[in-house]
Amino acid sequence: MFSGLSHLACSKCERSYDANTRRQMCECGAPLFVRYELDVVRKHLDRSKLSQRPQSFWRYHELLPVTDPQSIVSLNEVMTPLIRLPQTARAMDVPNLYVKDESVLPTGTFKARGASVGISRAKELGVKEITLSTNGNAGAAWATYATRAGIKAMIAMPKSAPKVPYVECCYAGADTRLMDGTIAEAGIYVADYAKRVGAYEISTFKEPYRLEGKKTIGFEIAEQFSWSVPDVIVFPTGGGAGVIGIYKALLELQSLGFIEARLPRIAIIQSAGCAPLVRAFEANQQESTYFENAQTLAYGMRVPKALADFLILDVVRKTQGIAYAVTDDEIRAERQNVIQKDGFHACPEGAAALAGVRKLREIGFIKDLDHVVSMNTGSGLKYIDQIDCPGLPTDHMR
Ligand SMILES: *Cc1c(COP(=O)(O)O)cnc(C)c1O
Ligand SMILES: [Zn+2]
Repeated sequence: MFSGLSHLACSKCERSYDANTRRQMCECGAPLFVRYELDVVRKHLDRSKLSQRPQSFWRYHELLPVTDPQSIVSLNEVMTPLIRLPQTARAMDVPNLYVKDESVLPTGTFKARGASVGISRAKELGVKEITLSTNGNAGAAWATYATRAGIKAMIAMPKSAPKVPYVECCYAGADTRLMDGTIAEAGIYVADYAKRVGAYEISTFKEPYRLEGKKTIGFEIAEQFSWSVPDVIVFPTGGGAGVIGIYKALLELQSLGFIEARLPRIAIIQSAGCAPLVRAFEANQQESTYFENAQTLAYGMRVPKALADFLILDVVRKTQGIAYAVTDDEIRAERQNVIQKDGFHACPEGAAALAGVRKLREIGFIKDLDHVVSMNTGSGLKYIDQIDCPGLPTDHMR
């Protein structure tokens, strides 16, 4: 058996759907989840078998939605390392701190996971063109994997999106368009485009397969901790596919009997300049409200209203987690701290997570000997234009 794929089920209502036809969301408007024949997978797969497979998330193929190995579209994704930051960990008084470093994935961010699995499945379903709205990193990843698969891509970004991922999309050959307004307006444009030309819309939670790629972070963490999961996972959160994916992975591992009942507490970190989920969490709401004038240098987290907000908040509450905001100044300071103390070049989102760890330790959410995994979701090198280095002329090497 290559994949245990069973069907698609709504995350909100009781409806379910055949997985072999192209679907976007449920008729009720909620995201769809991929379901597997876990009873069959349980008989077929054990933990020792996994450890002998190649060091890539494709080793979890029974729990991924691609049914034929020939459909896999890969740029050699590696299992990402857990890195120690001795100076930072000591200063924060979090001795068991690990950073899961996603910068080593193709296109330099964890978005490659969703794109590799999502494009592979799209190819399997006969998709010829994809379209998405993005602040940047998802576009870069999907454009790159689409090219690899010979699938066309139309990508819409707000004009305020940063230069690097725009160039990545365009250079990979995607039809890349800049929009007035925020990612919300770009989203409306893309939905309309998809309807007009029949492209498959793959924006966050508009189709079920991107999440399956993100999920592999959870599998890797569990396996890297010898199937005994850390106490806390800290994730810089925007659209929420990362945390919802990790949670889904852990539930699947539980039902296979690979991990125990205890789950990590999931802490989501946002920037104070765009913190709809933190507001909703603190106000005890089930959903977030649109965050006006959202602004943060950590653009991967700049999502004023996540489509799956109710699911993200549910994950945080069910795991006894927390939602916490740090300021852009704190993000900048932490990024500088970690490169200058430990030689680790975090992206701003990864630095936000680390600034979150510092705060969560101060307020006692993180306990003395807790094992903490802080996600570095991408490469700092994608964000070097945010750094001021004295002595560098502003027109240097343009
Ligand atoms: C997309 C992104 C995030 C946020 O991830 P979600 O799954 O949307 O919550 C964090 N960091 C980086 C670098 C990103 O590109
Ligand atoms: Zn539904």
